[in-house]
Amino acid sequence: MKAELQQRLRNEILETEPGKAILTCIQCGTCSGCCPLADAMDEGPRTVFALIRDGFIQQALAANTAWFCVSCYQCMVQCPQQIPITDIMYKLKEMSISYGLLSRNNKLADLYAAFHRQVMLFGKVSEAYLMADYGLRHPLDLMANTAAAVKLLVKKRLHLVPRKVAGIDILRHMLTMGTGKQKEPGQ
Ligand code: SF4
Ligand code: SF4
Repeated sequence: MKAELQQRLRNEILETEPGKAILTCIQCGTCSGCCPLADAMDEGPRTVFALIRDGFIQQALAANTAWFCVSCYQCMVQCPQQIPITDIMYKLKEMSISYGLLSRNNKLADLYAAFHRQVMLFGKVSEAYLMADYGLRHPLDLMANTAAAVKLLVKKRLHLVPRKVAGIDILRHMLTMGTGKQKEPGQ
């Protein structure tokens, strides 16, 4: 990525309401230390904020950090600078999609996208359809979970026919309100 674009994206993050707090980060590492998902992340939140501050935006947005964030708010509660870390994670996800900077290895973005399609179609998730949709991009994962799916089917915990919620049009309207269009991870 060209230096100019990195600079523009850096400014974009640092000018947003949650993002501007990154400049007050003292790099204490409390967020990365208390995050329950830190071991699964390419980089902990502390490192991601250092990358952003130093202008390594491509690396920051390609990291899987924001995608592994489960919004538990532990980091926000403990941050001595009261930085809205969880909110920043949402912003990073949005930007990595908007600027096409998702890592090819980021399976979670594909799972999120499949989840979103399910909700738009049925109003809730049908596990069988979710795995089939995700499995189109990751057939090896689908195959690896087939035995578990069969067990769930036998125990009647998996439904092959999806059930739509009532008032699905209202839900779709709510989910697309303010966006002007439907936006999905990976698009
Ligand atoms: S806990 Fe807060 S101040 Fe410390 S590294 Fe994380 S974001 Fe920065
Ligand atoms: S909100 Fe996200 S980044 Fe913060 S501790 Fe929880 S999982 Fe980790």
